[in-house]
Amino acid sequence: MAEKIDGKLISQQIKDELKEKVAALAAEGKTCALAVIQVGNDPASSVYVGNKKKTCAYIGIESIAYELPEETSEQELLDIIDKLNKDPKVNGILCQLPLPSHINEDHVIHAISPEKDVDGFHPRNVGALVIGEKGFVSCTPAGIIQLLKRSNIEIAGKHCVVIGRSNIVGKPMALLMLRENATVTICHSRTQNLKEICKEADILIVAIGKPKFINADYVKEGAVVIDVGIHRNEDNKLCGDVDFDSVEPKASYITPVPGGVGPMTIAMLMNNCVEAFMD
Ligand code: NAP
Repeated sequence: MAEKIDGKLISQQIKDELKEKVAALAAEGKTCALAVIQVGNDPASSVYVGNKKKTCAYIGIESIAYELPEETSEQELLDIIDKLNKDPKVNGILCQLPLPSHINEDHVIHAISPEKDVDGFHPRNVGALVIGEKGFVSCTPAGIIQLLKRSNIEIAGKHCVVIGRSNIVGKPMALLMLRENATVTICHSRTQNLKEICKEADILIVAIGKPKFINADYVKEGAVVIDVGIHRNEDNKLCGDVDFDSVEPKASYITPVPGGVGPMTIAMLMNNCVEAFMD
């Protein structure tokens, strides 16, 4: 039976550490601020934005909310970002994705100053990760590294298989595992023999976007299994990309959904905000 990696607990530890740091800064009269931009009122985005604001309040980070109407033009959004880039009071800028279809997400990602890009999506931050320079790292993969390290799971020398090659999860995840000296294999929809490759993994990180796709047949006995997926099943219950009940008896460690990777994303966003302030 696998040990469950408790993302709720670990994210709470990180948030409490950040709260202490922010309180120490506040005692010196320094305040940290995050601008949170939402365009339109997609219900899922509203939930994510609401959670981000709540977590800012918990840690003591000021959140400056921009709730813009659906019909906001790309230029209007870029003008707001430009203003925030120049505002010394704002340490981090976050623009909730997805954006309405008339706005080009790449233009927005490129417009946010890399020094304030707490999501870690700007090409300069992505490039910094590739060549091992300091920069902001995409929050979900950064959170997974924290889950592994804080669970005392050794990464160096292990074979890590990452399923998924998206810009926000799969690719940065693979680069981070490489930085931690794992031997890394990246799989995607054109990979042949997925099952055989996954069965070689000491650490299997699943970001495939398909509910319960990975079952015990894909997992080596004793592997560490990290499930990035979030879906609602037929009973409206949350589930991941991994079939938890099938994999749990075979793995040594596993992240549940909910309560695994999910809570780490916001914790690492907050961590990036505090780092943006310290730099
Ligand atoms: P995505 O952009 O849809 O990427 C999915 C990846 O899986 C793609 O690279 C795709 O390959 C690959 N794939 C699809 N079908 C496959 C198959 N049959 N075999 C092998 N590879 C396959 O998704 P994402 O944004 O990376 O997110 C992945 C999952 O994580 C989603 O469930 C999402 O909701 C969740 N997520 C969770 C958090 C969190 O905070 N917990 C954050 C972000 C995302 P191709 O590149 O060839 O198409």
